[in-house]
Amino acid sequence: MSKDFENFKMTLRRIEKKWQEKWRKQGVFDAKPEPNKRKYFITVPYPYASGPLHIGHGRTYTTGDVIARYKRMKGYNVLFPMAFHITGTPIEGISARIRAGDEESIKRNRYYISLYEDDPETVDRILKSFENPRNVANYFSSVISSDFDALGFSITWKRRFTTGDPEYNAFITWQFKRLYELGHITTGTYPILYCLKEENAVGEDDILGGDEIKPEVMEYVGIKFKLNDNLYLVAATLRPETIFGVTNIWINPEGQYTLARVNGERWIISKDSIIKIERQGYKVEVVEEFSGWKLIGKYTDVPGSDRKVPILPGPFVDTDEATGVVYSVPAHAPYDYAALVDIKRNPGEYGVKKEIVEMLEPIPIIRIEGYDIYPAKDACEKYGVKSQLEKDKLEKATEQVYKDEYYSGVLTVGPFKDWRVSDVKPKVVEWLEGMGRAVKIYEVSALKKPVVCRCGGKVIVAVLENQWF
Ligand SMILES: [Zn+2]
Repeated sequence: MSKDFENFKMTLRRIEKKWQEKWRKQGVFDAKPEPNKRKYFITVPYPYASGPLHIGHGRTYTTGDVIARYKRMKGYNVLFPMAFHITGTPIEGISARIRAGDEESIKRNRYYISLYEDDPETVDRILKSFENPRNVANYFSSVISSDFDALGFSITWKRRFTTGDPEYNAFITWQFKRLYELGHITTGTYPILYCLKEENAVGEDDILGGDEIKPEVMEYVGIKFKLNDNLYLVAATLRPETIFGVTNIWINPEGQYTLARVNGERWIISKDSIIKIERQGYKVEVVEEFSGWKLIGKYTDVPGSDRKVPILPGPFVDTDEATGVVYSVPAHAPYDYAALVDIKRNPGEYGVKKEIVEMLEPIPIIRIEGYDIYPAKDACEKYGVKSQLEKDKLEKATEQVYKDEYYSGVLTVGPFKDWRVSDVKPKVVEWLEGMGRAVKIYEVSALKKPVVCRCGGKVIVAVLENQWF
């Protein structure tokens, strides 16, 4: 850079500082009451005080400043206050991660602080103070204020506040009450994404990589298969209409399962699912824990029929997905078909007796154009699936079959014979509920699992009462 330009830059900086100093001393942006002047109030969504400003902030607040200055020139008495957003979980998350020694967070915040502080000891002292979330909010709101001043924004600093101030909270409470009175909002019981470590609701912004993995609440139907009087194995499904084609139940033999008293009944579900259903409003009391092997070879009934089906080992079953119990419909689910073929080929390898599996055959219950009698078998052959371990091929086969069955499948058996698959689901759920055999189970769905909060806590679905929406 040329020396002339350097000098020119220094001169500009000096002029800038001189005028900013004068504005401050004379309080030209203070907006004192002037009854004879027309009033103008402007506010811009306040910055979240969890880090320094970025270029997008520069654009947003410059827009507000331009309008404020224009109105002043037009003779208005302009009030342009500024606040700092300090509520919500992101600031708490920063403190929690620093307290836990999370290297990435420590590195990032050290960098942020060093943008403002030269002395390494000062940087360390401020970083240490970030273990308390209040200090994170105070530090960043203070440096952002200085940055706004350096940009020359015509802010009415006498009216500075934060979203943590009691006056502000009273205002928000008033707003909610007013909207409620007018009937624009309501309260109710609602399933939401929930962090188990912080014990609070979380949104996409609170979840690690949330904008990429798209976490959502998904509703499963839990179907109760009876083992004996008042003892149920609760299998979770997204396709309850396939209940008519169930041939067996899959349990992860190495997984941990729990016998628990749930709302007065006795349920067997995975150990991982206990905390989830507790948070979903079920009254749960754990009686006993055991490995999946204990269930293998036992038989359950099939709701609405007089059939009995065996419980078989399915190493692919994820005990942390819904109830960790899955029912098998090999005629219409490629995973189930591949697993059944494997276990029939070599029952000994899976630790089951030949007699239990040799009689098992897929039960076709849905007819679709362009498929043979067993759509899952067709799809496995089309995608070249050789065993239950070929996950990529099985995913493709599953997607294809589920889509085709949903849009063009028709039930061929049972009380809903001739119903289209796309219409029948609520009817089947109602029918199962009528027999006391269906419950709602919520699970987190995401493009990639596990779903973890920024604080490091596990994210589940909780059902909370008195939620505003
Ligand atoms: Zn959390």
